[in-house]
Amino acid sequence: MRPLVGVRQADVVVVGAGLAGLAAARDLAAHGVDVVVLEARDRVGGRAYTIRCEDGTAIDLGGQWIGPGQTRIANVAASLGVTTFPAYDEGATILLARTPQAPEGERIEHTSAVPSSNPAVGAAILAAIESLDVLARTVPLEAPWTAARAREWDAQTFESWIAANVAVPAARAWWRIECAAIFAAEPHEVSLLHALFYSRSAGGWRSLVDVLTGAQERRFHDGAQEVATRMARRLGQRVILDAPVDTIVQDDQRVLVYSDRSGLGISARYAVVALPPALAGRIRYRPTLGGLRDQLTQRMPMGSMVKVHCVYDTPFWRTRGLSGQATSDTGPVGTTFDNSPESGNPGVLVGFIAGNAARRWSRYPRAARRAAVLSDLARYFGAEAAAPRGYIEQSWADEEYTRGGYAGCMPPGVWTAYGEDLRRPIGRIHWAGTETATVWNGYMDGAVSSGERAAAEIIASFDKSVWSPKEGSLTGPAQRRGFALSPARSIPYLGHKGADLKYTMTKQPGLMDAEAGDDMGTALEFEPASKA
Ligand SMILES: Cc1cc2nc3c(=O)[nH]c(=O)nc-3n(C[C@H](O)[C@H](O)[C@H](O)COP(=O)(O)OP(=O)(O)OC[C@H]3O[C@@H](n4cnc5c(N)ncnc54)[C@H](O)[C@@H]3O)c2cc1C
Repeated sequence: MRPLVGVRQADVVVVGAGLAGLAAARDLAAHGVDVVVLEARDRVGGRAYTIRCEDGTAIDLGGQWIGPGQTRIANVAASLGVTTFPAYDEGATILLARTPQAPEGERIEHTSAVPSSNPAVGAAILAAIESLDVLARTVPLEAPWTAARAREWDAQTFESWIAANVAVPAARAWWRIECAAIFAAEPHEVSLLHALFYSRSAGGWRSLVDVLTGAQERRFHDGAQEVATRMARRLGQRVILDAPVDTIVQDDQRVLVYSDRSGLGISARYAVVALPPALAGRIRYRPTLGGLRDQLTQRMPMGSMVKVHCVYDTPFWRTRGLSGQATSDTGPVGTTFDNSPESGNPGVLVGFIAGNAARRWSRYPRAARRAAVLSDLARYFGAEAAAPRGYIEQSWADEEYTRGGYAGCMPPGVWTAYGEDLRRPIGRIHWAGTETATVWNGYMDGAVSSGERAAAEIIASFDKSVWSPKEGSLTGPAQRRGFALSPARSIPYLGHKGADLKYTMTKQPGLMDAEAGDDMGTALEFEPASKA
């Protein structure tokens, strides 16, 4: 581990410059709080990541759409002058679903998100939406585990509900494909309680699946990352890139957030960890976090998602009366959309390889995956689709600082056993990230609101304590337990008045007592503060 090359003082340190971390930092800075953001990557935005084709066309490799009710992300974007345009949603959409009668796929063309052109299939899907929405309305967004039927719903998967409640084969296939498209996870991986919470947090299933009146309504002209880029620009030098956080040490006075790669430590009064829980669990905490919080982070897997784009000279499918939208279980690409820029030039199709398909096709070489994707698109939209001028793919599981997407979600049993540990601050550490959102959980909107919520928690604490900080440290029992550091192993940092301070570990709710011999000083190898 590298020696500490510098300790910077701040009021708050934010870990992660995704939309959540940036929203937290923006609100804190607006409140006059001295905030520093440490970001692992050499860019901001996290799961909002935009690249450009040679002709300048923005391609969103991660989050891209916003829709009605997503006021947080919409307001941030508007305040920064990041403009949007409506997604293309004209013409026929294709459902190609394997059924016992049509093992190669039953093709249904329809003009709304739900394939109502086949009355039996459409009615079965709509009935299930209605039933699920009725159940979801009883799930409290702040505390899903307190729903009257929480235990029953958390003991089963979304798949078991679909199998028991959707009898029409093509409708059942549609639900499975949509589940993978919405969660990037198979319905057997998601608890029914989570599916109900998630849909309610978005305002219902129609909000999740619809295009022009749902979550797929609008896109950003310059790509979704532009929102994060402009937020970061406003924060200026408060945002530090290439600084993956490895270790967080806290006591009852301060929190020290340390990045080995950059050799930088930030000493602050509070930290906001704005990462997906699975990644937050990879940070080393001293004192160690309580078992419940850690076990939560072990149980919230990221979805499996490979997002592909094919670029064509024109959106040729439009002239054939097709919307560019397909839903299929006949190949790796489960869902597609027209992702052309507003001008319609070039034509761009986006495809989502989700859940089992993402895992299966990640094992193949890129060329084989490309061939399978193009074969799917040709089946959906015609032979021209097999000859794009550009092919772009992004596997989110391969990203060291994301490890999957769209988000972390709850398998059975997790909400009811660990839900309380999702947002509860531990000592001086507060948690943000879209996974902690109550509204539009999993979406960019939820990321922004989670950051705002974490900032508000800290501002409330500041109002109570920071401006007249509590002096003194923990008392005798803490020291007797052996987690007061000896002078030789204490962590020096420059206090606000330039004086060296020493950490005394404290017992706080949710924190484990550090075991005797748990050698924090060795782990961090700090140099004397005078060299900082
Ligand atoms: C393929 C895909 C498509 C999606 N489509 C949509 C969509 O159309 N609409 C929508 O609203 N949402 C969509 N989402 C979800 C949306 O992108 C996310 O909900 C949102 O961007 C999450 O923001 P966040 O700040 O919570 O987390 P992140 O964006 O993951 O931010 C976390 C940040 O922390 C950094 N980091 C990680 N580890 C460390 C560390 N140890 N130290 C310091 N920094 C660290 C990361 O690099 C990252 O910048 C999509 C996601 C994916 C992957």
